[in-house]
Amino acid sequence: MSRVLMIGAGGVATVCAFKMVQNQDVFSELMIASHHKDKCDKLVKAIHDKGYKMDIKTAEVDADDVEQLKQLIGSYKPELVINLALPYQDLTIMDACLACGVNYLDTANYEPKDEAHFEYSWQWAYRDRFKKAGLTAILGCGFDPGVSQVFTAYAAKHVFDEIIDLDIVDCNAGNHHKAFATNFNPEINIREITQKGLYYENGKWIETDPLAVHKALTYPNIGPRESYLMHHEELESLVINFPTIRRARFWMTFGKQYLTYLDCIQNLGMSRIDEVTYEAPLADGSGKMVKVNIVPLQFLKAVLPNPQDLGENYDGETSIGCRIRGIKDGKEHTYYIYNNCKHQDAYKETGMQGVSYTTGVPAMTGAMMFLKGIWRKPGVYNVEEFDPDPFLKVLGEQGLPWHEIHDGDLEL
Ligand code: NDP
Repeated sequence: MSRVLMIGAGGVATVCAFKMVQNQDVFSELMIASHHKDKCDKLVKAIHDKGYKMDIKTAEVDADDVEQLKQLIGSYKPELVINLALPYQDLTIMDACLACGVNYLDTANYEPKDEAHFEYSWQWAYRDRFKKAGLTAILGCGFDPGVSQVFTAYAAKHVFDEIIDLDIVDCNAGNHHKAFATNFNPEINIREITQKGLYYENGKWIETDPLAVHKALTYPNIGPRESYLMHHEELESLVINFPTIRRARFWMTFGKQYLTYLDCIQNLGMSRIDEVTYEAPLADGSGKMVKVNIVPLQFLKAVLPNPQDLGENYDGETSIGCRIRGIKDGKEHTYYIYNNCKHQDAYKETGMQGVSYTTGVPAMTGAMMFLKGIWRKPGVYNVEEFDPDPFLKVLGEQGLPWHEIHDGDLEL
């Protein structure tokens, strides 16, 4: 019997909620709280409309406000808070969890609103406080970050004595039939993609211009797709937790049309995250004009397709995995471990597309690992610091089966 509070009611949260409801032997009591309660109620209705029975509570909370969070968490008294709001809210939610003596899990690392920059130092700074309080915080338990690290931990445990080269490869070969749309929160997605690339080699971090390094990689059941080297948060913890790694990189596929639009968005100034002053009519219909400060990227989010609405017409599949070179018994080997997920399968089950699905299922799986006491130790941890075996067993059973290729051509 466990009581869970999930914060957020977007695409990832929707999938995670469906999966928790399918596993009520573990998730026996659930509350969904987000910025707007009507969104939480809509999600509960979607779950009931699919025939699932569970009494799910809903609430409104501004997760930027620690006091509001403390009040909500203190009154509901969950065992675990699953943070599926935005990376901006990680620290406020961690603060409230500490104040209320509650455990924590998220899928993306903290990012300040006014600086497109992500790194784990802010959240790792909570280690002592969680440890002293006897509470567990599990960081980055989506697919990447998340399963990508569990795959690496599995390779380190079962396949290699030493991991040498690690390439995380993320391909979305789906088509949503929109001119331009992002697969998860547009603001977070565009901030991430327009950053400089970063990879690790021989103990140093090497920066590249945004999307400047690319090559065609072949993905199972998909074929070749142009893949771009990007900075991705899980590299930061992986090179610390697997110190034999000589080189670690992250690659993501993008289509030509997507990149052309992205270029235009940047050149037009619509990816800016600073405030600009804009004169707009008051919403009361009086015709009176007022000066307001808006952030162009936030405005762009308001006019782009909502990633939650892409599922219906999304075809194709995603393929995400780790391509690893390493040593076993003195000999060099290669290993590729990956999952492919079809957007339509995800949509039929949860009403969401594959990117939300591949994030929401691992979030539920990590939460299950915690609630069953398998991934539970006081402190703040990245997912590769736990036993990968029980997690991967459940992940496969819950809709994300994974596959292995030993000693194939890594192309990298
Ligand atoms: P969405 O934008 O669809 O959903 C975010 C939700 O959080 C919405 O319900 C939103 O409410 C709510 N929210 C935003 N701000 C606040 C606030 N201040 N207080 C309370 N609720 C708030 O995002 P996604 O579902 O696509 O992504 C969710 C998370 O998953 C993000 O952190 C994202 O970075 C991460 N992610 C991780 C991946 C991985 O593989 N690790 C991959 C994809 C995403 P409202 O809409 O009402 O404002």
